Amino acid sequence: MCCNPDDTCSIVDFRYMKLQTKAVHAGERQKLGAFIPISTPIYASSSFFYERMEVLTEVFADERPGQTYARLGNPSSDALEEQLAALEGADCAFSTASGMAAVHLAVMAGLVDRRQSIVAANVLYGGTLEFLASVLRPVGATVEFCDFCDLDSLEKTVKETQPALLLVETVSNPVLRVADVDRIAEIAHNSNSLLLVDNTFTPLLQRPLEHGADMVIYSATKYLGGHGDVLSGIVAAPQEQQEVLRLMQRTLGGNLGPFEAFLTMRGIKTLPLRMRRHCANAHLVADWLGKHSAVKAVNFPGDKNHPDAEIAARLMPAGQAGGAISFDVRGGEKAAFDVLDRLQLTATAASIGDLHSLAIHPASTTHRLLDPEIRHGLGITEGLIRLSVGAEDISDILMDLDQALGAA
Ligand code: PLP
Repeated sequence: MCCNPDDTCSIVDFRYMKLQTKAVHAGERQKLGAFIPISTPIYASSSFFYERMEVLTEVFADERPGQTYARLGNPSSDALEEQLAALEGADCAFSTASGMAAVHLAVMAGLVDRRQSIVAANVLYGGTLEFLASVLRPVGATVEFCDFCDLDSLEKTVKETQPALLLVETVSNPVLRVADVDRIAEIAHNSNSLLLVDNTFTPLLQRPLEHGADMVIYSATKYLGGHGDVLSGIVAAPQEQQEVLRLMQRTLGGNLGPFEAFLTMRGIKTLPLRMRRHCANAHLVADWLGKHSAVKAVNFPGDKNHPDAEIAARLMPAGQAGGAISFDVRGGEKAAFDVLDRLQLTATAASIGDLHSLAIHPASTTHRLLDPEIRHGLGITEGLIRLSVGAEDISDILMDLDQALGAA
């Protein structure tokens, strides 16, 4: 029944089979010919077939390369992982169904065989804060939140608690403080703790693994995907973390689907081009907002008056500080809502990193679950708007902001 294995035709001849069998099998299990697709296809297959059982067992045993079952690997997500590991200078990468699944994967990998304790930055994406406080704490992990910009107090806490891992964002969401990854890595490693760094806001611009991080995490939904059409995540790491991350990937089951892997990989192809544009536009917008009478304060790591300007200049290329800005409008929540409602080009939506500009009110959305007093203490005021500056023409972005703020 099989054609010549060197042929590119289907390996089973269905001519003499019944309709039901044809419906199930015909057209499938095509062998690739001598050609190689120029882009990695969407391999929508949950398992992979070999003509000899012996080969399948060898692939299962890692004795030869190949695919067995999509939760354990899929050519579409493998290609994305290779692409991201190459960009990050990592030995391995693992793609996940969302940024939160990547946070979950990395944190679980960091906790295995270690102390069930975490020291995390007190300003993190709201979902990550909720995961740590409302999921990990109730299952028995100790989670200590602290100010990662106060290195002396961080060092003291880490020495006292000896945690399994430290978790921080390179640029914190939404107040855009910049973590001193070199110093934080030193503090972590002095206590034999791992440092996990979420670099969602500054891909390519910051390279946490080169500054001592043990794992780098992305919500690829943001800049990596870049087009607002995919939810995905990724964790990249050096060799030492590969086995434990692989174990987590195989067992937690938060894998990325092949279509989402395809979209993310396609997005990453233009990431260097897009980041340059986001950074240049954000610089101009931050300067412009800083001079506007309706704006009380602007948070932008590229601003020379930013509290972490020196760290930002050390860790990021000159003139490139990411595409995110947050700014406080005079008049609190009502004024911020009015500005957001008047925006026309910029979409009010809960994401960052898309080609199109996006804006949101963090206090009532992404960070609404934080205690109001804590929120205020972190600088997430009622008038704060987070703006993800897109790749549109700068004059159109400024015109839109001008008409929205002008009436404020
Ligand atoms: N990490 C950061 C810094 C984020 O901003 C987000 C989402 O906004 C996440 C993780 C979670 O990513 P996702 O929404 O893809 O699950």
